[in-house]
Amino acid sequence: MDFLVLTLFPELFGPFWKTGIVGRAQENGIINGRTIDIRDFAAGRHKVVDDRPFGGGCGMVMKPEPLDRALTEAKARLPQAGVILLSPQGSPFNHKTAACLAKAANRGLILVCGRYEGIDQRVIERHVELEISIGDYILTGGELASMVVIDAVTRLLPGALGNQDSASDESFSQGTLEYAQYTRPRDWEGQEVPDVLLSGNHQRIADWRKGQALMTTLLKRPDLLRTRGLDEQEEKLLERWRLEIERILDGQRIRSLDPPPGGG
Ligand code: SAM
Repeated sequence: MDFLVLTLFPELFGPFWKTGIVGRAQENGIINGRTIDIRDFAAGRHKVVDDRPFGGGCGMVMKPEPLDRALTEAKARLPQAGVILLSPQGSPFNHKTAACLAKAANRGLILVCGRYEGIDQRVIERHVELEISIGDYILTGGELASMVVIDAVTRLLPGALGNQDSASDESFSQGTLEYAQYTRPRDWEGQEVPDVLLSGNHQRIADWRKGQALMTTLLKRPDLLRTRGLDEQEEKLLERWRLEIERILDGQRIRSLDPPPGGG
């Protein structure tokens, strides 16, 4: 999948294209990540890319001409690509959007990173298909936001993860959060791994994980379950977990009523 990032700070992407899963995907040709320096398209000796806002106000605005020329070059390189502007005014980025973008991988993506107070509205109207926000806060520039999008999309591309199952199991892919994970040692400072995970019984492990994921989602992100709903089997699983938790809590309550050892 082609990613072409338009930025005033291409140097930020050096390590990004070379590191971890994104780096491996780049090395294996699953993605082709490149940057275009918007300043290269600015006119004059000083290569000015910003100017004062009409109507007054603080800060500077990215001028339309350099960005328009940079976008024209990007579109010539990737004629099918969708053009995304990273912007706090955009649609909130989530798993669904990442999956959608990964599905259209053959088109490629051109990602525009704003700086200063943002970019001239007329360039947005001429070129941008989709505005994406990574959250309700203001970053100094769109570079980190574009890395977030590229990272999340890349790991959904076939072959990007070592084990393809890990993407389909993860939080959000099934509309729930992921189950709790454990690794060695089995007993860490008195805290033991749940027995079922050591049982070797794949069905019991799968059931436990599903119930754990549903319970975790119910406690931490009930909004996800409200949107997704539960099937009959999941309702039964959750009910079993609820009863088990009540049983454990009852046990604790009874123990706390016991007299302390040695009387009292
Ligand atoms: N003046 C703008 C406003 O109030 O909406 C904020 C501009 S911000 C300082 C500069 C650039 O950072 C934006 O043009 C955008 O590209 C990027 N940016 C900032 N916050 C972002 C967010 N939450 N999601 C995506 N991009 C963001």
